[in-house]
Amino acid sequence: MKPRVFSGVQPSGNLHIGNYLGALKNWVRLQHDYECIYCIVDLHAVTVYQEPQELLAKIREIAALFLAAGIDSKTSTVMVQSSVPAHAELAWMLTCVTPMGWLSRMTQFKAKAEKQETVGDGLFQYPVLMAADILLYQAALVPVGDDQSQHVELTRDIAQRFNSLYGDTFVVPETRLPAVGARVMGLDDPLKKMSKSESGAGHAVGLLDPPSVIRKKLMRATTDSNPAVEFGALGPGVENLLNIFQAFSEWPDEKMQAHFAGMRYGDLKEQVAEMVISQLEPLQRRYHEITSEPGYLDGILREGAERLSPIAAGTVELVKRRMGLYVGS
Ligand code: ATP
Ligand code: MG
Repeated sequence: MKPRVFSGVQPSGNLHIGNYLGALKNWVRLQHDYECIYCIVDLHAVTVYQEPQELLAKIREIAALFLAAGIDSKTSTVMVQSSVPAHAELAWMLTCVTPMGWLSRMTQFKAKAEKQETVGDGLFQYPVLMAADILLYQAALVPVGDDQSQHVELTRDIAQRFNSLYGDTFVVPETRLPAVGARVMGLDDPLKKMSKSESGAGHAVGLLDPPSVIRKKLMRATTDSNPAVEFGALGPGVENLLNIFQAFSEWPDEKMQAHFAGMRYGDLKEQVAEMVISQLEPLQRRYHEITSEPGYLDGILREGAERLSPIAAGTVELVKRRMGLYVGS
């Protein structure tokens, strides 16, 4: 049997090139060597308020984008988190072995809590639910962007703590980051990670943005006061643009340097825009094909939940037995 991979995306807004380069692109690559589970983590999205109709639409949009990006539903499983209730059930059990001190160190909690008027307890507990998502399927590998590595580290700690309290139960998963593109920065503020939940119009390139919008956003990206690319003295905005180009093109460092050294920022931006547009074009085409076929997507999501439910139930039963919870006779 192949080792398992688990990863997810929150349906909390429009998928952007950071999500693609940090997560999805890597997911597609791993499909042949691993048994992959890719999840739309809707229970994570509601840790901050989501408008219900919009949330429902985003869940379907993101499922379609997984497939459009190249996830093959015959070999990988695509599922919606809330359709397998064991995620929430295991999260409760793991909550009971997770010290609050561990959760209060999570930088994402601090950053997201700052933006809320009232902070729901779910936002604080969220990394435990993420641990449950991963441990439920005994995943060996978790391909994520750099911002999620702290949460995967926490998942390892929770698994190890559970294993030492109750005996060997969980596989302790490894993090897999892409070599380039693990942390794409905001186009409007290259010191901030590109995020779905940021609202600025020029902040992120969406995977479904039309070419004219992509061009406009990239041409307006924040750079610095230098006129041209100088390797060795790159400002964060220019470095981000070069990273985006390299992650899409997969050019080696030497080729990047030979091509872009001394290039004026206007020309650099144009070339990045053309690269992004050409790489997203087939994905956008497939997205429109997938969403124009009625019932197709729901069939895949139903099948995904059906395939995974028995695996998830098996882990929950094992955990109950280990903890001494009642499983009947
Ligand atoms: P939100 O603002 O709602 O948290 P997000 O853009 O951070 O949205 P997530 O759904 O939290 O997206 O993360 C999905 C995947 O995309 C994760 O693997 C995460 O590490 C990755 N990811 C998110 N943002 C970036 C980024 N800027 N660069 C690279 N990878 C990213
Ligand atoms: Mg996030």
